[in-house]
Amino acid sequence: MKIIAVGRNYAEHAKELNNPVPPAPVIFMKPDTAVLKDNNPFYHPDFSQDIHHEIEIVLKICKEGKHVSPKFAGNYFDEIGLGVDFTARDIQQKHKEKGLPWELAKSFDHSAPISRFLPRDSFADLNNISFGLSINGKNVQQGNTKDLLFPFENLIVFISQYITLKKGDLIFTGTPQGVGKVNIGDRLEGYIENEKLLDFEIK
Ligand code: ZN
Repeated sequence: MKIIAVGRNYAEHAKELNNPVPPAPVIFMKPDTAVLKDNNPFYHPDFSQDIHHEIEIVLKICKEGKHVSPKFAGNYFDEIGLGVDFTARDIQQKHKEKGLPWELAKSFDHSAPISRFLPRDSFADLNNISFGLSINGKNVQQGNTKDLLFPFENLIVFISQYITLKKGDLIFTGTPQGVGKVNIGDRLEGYIENEKLLDFEIK
């Protein structure tokens, strides 16, 4: 499986990092070794002093898709979960300044904690899902999919023009505003609507 992630998909988050709102989705990938499951702790790596949390809605792909048309895009994911797109912001900043790829900042081991997944049918309106992240009991990120610049189906259409989607692939759909540093000892809790799906520690 592979993880395809979308950068700058919420305008307020693009703004907080002084990035322009993009005319097309910004896409990057994480390898399968980035996955961290079952609320296992995240061990803070030594190579960064500024690991940021980015809470995101994650789609699970349920069948192979290539050049998917808008009409059928909704058939390609059947489960929805939560993920954290851990980002070594110090490394990313250096690479951005030099115009270099972000891989080392985004794709390191366990940089993609994911929750269990919920059936897509359990959501009444995919364009109105609220989600959030708290750290040590304090809410730090709050988002709603109504604010997505590129909604789920647009992402499926766009990505599948370039990259074949396969069953089991994950799409990280972008983070709302409020990203920030995590520290050893922090407890991260992630919610979709009022359901807690993520609960793990930084060690
Ligand atoms: Zn992200």
